[in-house]
Amino acid sequence: MSSSISPIRIGIVGVGKIVRDQHLPALAKDRDYQLIAAASRHGKVDGIVNFPDIETMLGVVPELDAVSLCMPPQFRYEAARKALEAGKHVFLEKPPGATVSEVEDLKALAAKQGVSLFASWHSRYAPAVEAARIFLASTNIKSAAIVWKEDVRRWHPNQDWIWQPGGFGVFDPGINALSIATYILPAMYITSAVLDFPVNRDAPIAAQVAFRAANGSDVTMDLDWLQTGPQSWDILADTDAGQMVLSGGGSKLAVDGNIVHEEPEAEYPMLYRRFAEIVHAETSDVDLAPLQHVADAFMLGKRNVVEAFFD
Ligand code: NAP
Repeated sequence: MSSSISPIRIGIVGVGKIVRDQHLPALAKDRDYQLIAAASRHGKVDGIVNFPDIETMLGVVPELDAVSLCMPPQFRYEAARKALEAGKHVFLEKPPGATVSEVEDLKALAAKQGVSLFASWHSRYAPAVEAARIFLASTNIKSAAIVWKEDVRRWHPNQDWIWQPGGFGVFDPGINALSIATYILPAMYITSAVLDFPVNRDAPIAAQVAFRAANGSDVTMDLDWLQTGPQSWDILADTDAGQMVLSGGGSKLAVDGNIVHEEPEAEYPMLYRRFAEIVHAETSDVDLAPLQHVADAFMLGKRNVVEAFFD
């Protein structure tokens, strides 16, 4: 962005783990933005004005150009509508909403209001994802497997919302895998799914999903939230140019065991660069393919009840 363009004055909403871990450091280093306000019931950001909710922030700080909505997905739609109605550009954390239709509604509202809506998918900006996409585009894919296995107690301790309806359970990390898969693999659709729900929870702790890709190849997805020890965030593909392994959540690409791409992670700085780009281009970026697959898995999936889960 040219230095003659004023920074985007942004407010951040839902000050919790991801805001502290990623949004604040990314915004602090980006001269395209000026973080001027925050709204959260409990969380606060030092050095700027803080409000208990988004309505108050929008009323008291009308000079805001944009807001980033970082609360859990079940509580994002009303806030997004208020921001769009107030003429603000909106950055949505992933997943962009709790249902497909609410995000479609936001997309239409953003277009009507002439502002930008960004459904961010941070994993798409992992360093080796683009290299994987380019590799796969030049090969024939025979089959692919998504293996996303992590320890929920380590990554989501005491996050009650994640186990509630609309919190997605193991599909909260699983949708990150789907955001990469829908970018690097041919179009695909779900043919079957099995979802394991702990008896005391309203969201799954594990899932097995089968897809058929447009070229006829099979894609499987194995999600598990009880993996201790080494964590797996991998996408594997058997191709006529060798076996591709995209590991570490998209950070490392190997073909036939040889590392062909590895770089330090910069997902959130790149997400904010993309948001500035769409704001200046007066457009939106809302790809609902990952969310649609999660909706389809819940719609088509057989449900197993498994033992209770306690943090
Ligand atoms: P979190 O810390 O549990 O929640 C973020 C903040 O949202 C909370 O601190 C809370 O702030 C607010 N909030 C919680 N419940 C709310 C409610 N009922 N109504 C309004 N606000 C509420 O969660 P997080 O880990 O930051 O995740 C937030 C989003 O970022 C999720 O969609 C997640 O998928 C995504 N994300 C998370 C990670 C990660 O590593 N954690 C990574 C990438 C993306 P107040 O109590 O102050 O209102």
